[in-house]
Amino acid sequence: MSIEVGDVIRGAPNKLYIAGEFQDAAGGGTFPTFNPATEEMITEVSSAGLEDVNAAVAGAHEAFEKGDWCEMSARERGRILWRIGELLRANVEEIALLETIDNGKPIFESLYVDIPMVAEVFQYYAGWADKMHGEVVPVSGRALDYTLREPLGVIAAIVPWNFPLLLASWKIAPALAMGNTVIVKPASNTPLTALKLAEIAAEAGLPPGVLNIVPGRGSVVGNALVEHPDVAKIAFTGETATGQGILRKSADTLKKITLELGGKSPNVVFADADLKAAAAGATIGIFYGKGEVCAAGSRLFVAKSVAEEFIERVIARAEKMVPGDPMDPKTRMGALVSKNQMDTVLGYVETGKTEGARLRTGGDHAPIDGKGYFLRPAVFDKVDNNMTIAQEEIFGPVLAAIEFEDEDHAISQANDNPYGLAAAVWTRDVGRAHRVASKLKAGTVWVNTYNRYDAAAPFGGYKESGYGRELGMHALEHYTQVKNVWVDLS
Ligand code: NAD
Repeated sequence: MSIEVGDVIRGAPNKLYIAGEFQDAAGGGTFPTFNPATEEMITEVSSAGLEDVNAAVAGAHEAFEKGDWCEMSARERGRILWRIGELLRANVEEIALLETIDNGKPIFESLYVDIPMVAEVFQYYAGWADKMHGEVVPVSGRALDYTLREPLGVIAAIVPWNFPLLLASWKIAPALAMGNTVIVKPASNTPLTALKLAEIAAEAGLPPGVLNIVPGRGSVVGNALVEHPDVAKIAFTGETATGQGILRKSADTLKKITLELGGKSPNVVFADADLKAAAAGATIGIFYGKGEVCAAGSRLFVAKSVAEEFIERVIARAEKMVPGDPMDPKTRMGALVSKNQMDTVLGYVETGKTEGARLRTGGDHAPIDGKGYFLRPAVFDKVDNNMTIAQEEIFGPVLAAIEFEDEDHAISQANDNPYGLAAAVWTRDVGRAHRVASKLKAGTVWVNTYNRYDAAAPFGGYKESGYGRELGMHALEHYTQVKNVWVDLS
């Protein structure tokens, strides 16, 4: 790293960003954000209230209505988004460091995965800005009928703390590419990188009011955005219960909604799989990102005939993922985002033991020099798919291994869960791979791999994991509306 943590903290933006200006909250409120690895406060961040939300919506609405953005040539919009990607790359160390100290994730992940993908997402959607257009429709009678694809207006992006800037970018980039204006409500645990993005977007030439960032409490800021009549759409990622509340409330103003919610993803390993590769995939599938990953492969289904051997392999790998200083480039297991989250995960470990699952390794608090919300990765076996640790999203480094007898048994257990975000199947049998992929009820199925993402590949949930798709061309549907125009030619 060529930059110092102290310098990054001193330079961290910590004020609301509304209509092109960094500003204090109208009521003067602030909230602290902490480094979960050291338990130290990083900075006090301005906490938006209702007045600030109204100002942000007014600014975004005015920017939309004035047309500085949506009436700009689509290619020029694309050039600005591309430039945001370039500036993200040029500042990758500083942004990755901010993400790591705010979230506790290893610098390896922020520097080589999260922030580079944010840049990719902006540049992928830069390419779409001038490629979404309407069609001429062959209607009957003497008439010309055509469609226009128009932006929706003000989009509110409400994002969680696990991939703070990445999940924000999945919403901001397609929304901006299609000519909308955006208000981002970052999670209170991790507000810093979204504010940094505001600086970068302004430098790239984004007009004032087109992107606004309002950190603050979900029940205040998030709720006000959901209720506001001038917000056209909510793009939400977070817990299923929060998403359900947003959906109910949005009925009053008939907002468009996309929801990316929780998961309890099955990772199915057949006896004929490359067991070495599958063990590596199963370990990364659950323990990457400290298990605070919506698509984490938290339920491992293993063929009975290879179960013991396979679980031994996973345990050996898990034990190598020793929790360490997230700033150390060699660390692969960082600190959980907060004490609250750590306590929740520890509670699930206890429940697993009480309900009769066997804890084979980890699952305990492992502070470094007495500090930090570090947990050793936990592997349970002898899990029944009906147990709490197999049914509820834990959102931490806890793996539940479940045995299966045959293909039908694997599929029926894998689908026996309210969530349906992602799944994986490991086998050398190509027919089985496709058969099982088609039967798994999940928005993404990985075959002989796990946790693969690309800006071009759509991502989203089946069942209670939400609806709508992010990334790829599918996301663009959610940031445009179709107008049909009839012209009489008689
Ligand atoms: P959360 O639901 O607690 O919070 C998400 C966001 O919603 C935060 O910004 C929060 O402040 C805001 N919020 C809270 N209450 C609100 C309200 N009443 N109205 C409007 N906004 C409100 O989720 P979290 O704990 O930050 O994130 C973890 C969850 O996110 C997990 O369930 C995880 O599976 C899910 N997640 C899903 C995906 C996906 O793509 N499907 C990706 C990442 C995380």
